[in-house]
Amino acid sequence: MVFNIQKYSIHDGPGIRTTVFLKGCPLCCQWCHNPESQSAKPEVMFVQSRCVVCGECRRVCAFARALPGEGPLPPRVEGCNLCGECGEACPTGARQILGQRMTVNEVLEQIAADSLFYDESAGGVTISGGEPLSQLAFLRGLLQACRSRGIRTAVDTCGFACTDALLDVARRTDLILFDLKLMDDARHRAFTGVSNEPILANLKALDLIHKNYWIRVPLIPGINDDTANLEATARFVASLYGVVQVCVLPYHAIGANKFRRLGLSAPLDGLKPPSAEQVRAAEEVFKSFGLRVGVGG
Ligand code: SF4
Ligand code: SF4
Repeated sequence: MVFNIQKYSIHDGPGIRTTVFLKGCPLCCQWCHNPESQSAKPEVMFVQSRCVVCGECRRVCAFARALPGEGPLPPRVEGCNLCGECGEACPTGARQILGQRMTVNEVLEQIAADSLFYDESAGGVTISGGEPLSQLAFLRGLLQACRSRGIRTAVDTCGFACTDALLDVARRTDLILFDLKLMDDARHRAFTGVSNEPILANLKALDLIHKNYWIRVPLIPGINDDTANLEATARFVASLYGVVQVCVLPYHAIGANKFRRLGLSAPLDGLKPPSAEQVRAAEEVFKSFGLRVGVGG
């Protein structure tokens, strides 16, 4: 279940990459940059700024008769069976169905078209989400198919997964991008919906077998950018062996807009991105523990 294949990506690992986004995640982070990835099922997204109010979506929807008013359908229509007709009828792409079942070969075909760019830039393919490990058979198949074509791979994971599955996937990929969000378990539960204990245990297990992974820390003002959390994160990371670098990922508000486009309320509505100073301060904390650190990536 794929919701996007993004070409020429330069933010999900080294070089020029194609990032394959899979749907479904065991976490529900309040700052999620891709809230359309959280549900494992297809979803309707409505982008108001692209809507020309032609009413075509309403005309074709079997469930629209029960709805009052005119103009575009709301993102969430009671009874919606995700037939996709509204998306097909929409002339501007304002209404889209996100999430499509694809085979490994269908994805590989799109990936392989850009092999030249990967070769020239030491790039490759990143499989992200959502949580790629939640579609384990597909993930393994895609990693194997890329390897057989000589395409380097990275897997971006939240780390909340069965340990055996994570280690198996780690052996099949060239680079792991491992997200760390909050070190305090109660706060982690409050802001992501799950405990961080299995995540930290998985990171320690990964560290024993893999010597090429990056730690990615989203920087969310007022939630995880306090010195205590950053120092606890840096201390933990500095105790590992295989970390190549820490990537600080400053929060930005695109995720809040996407929540609204899905017809959901954005949990962090109105939150501003961190200032350049706040980002620099976070970098300094990681550097002070002897870690190589960058912003983005
Ligand atoms: S996906 Fe089908 S049922 Fe759902 S809103 Fe669109 S047309 Fe209606
Ligand atoms: S079909 Fe598309 S452009 Fe027309 S009203 Fe619906 S969402 Fe807007």
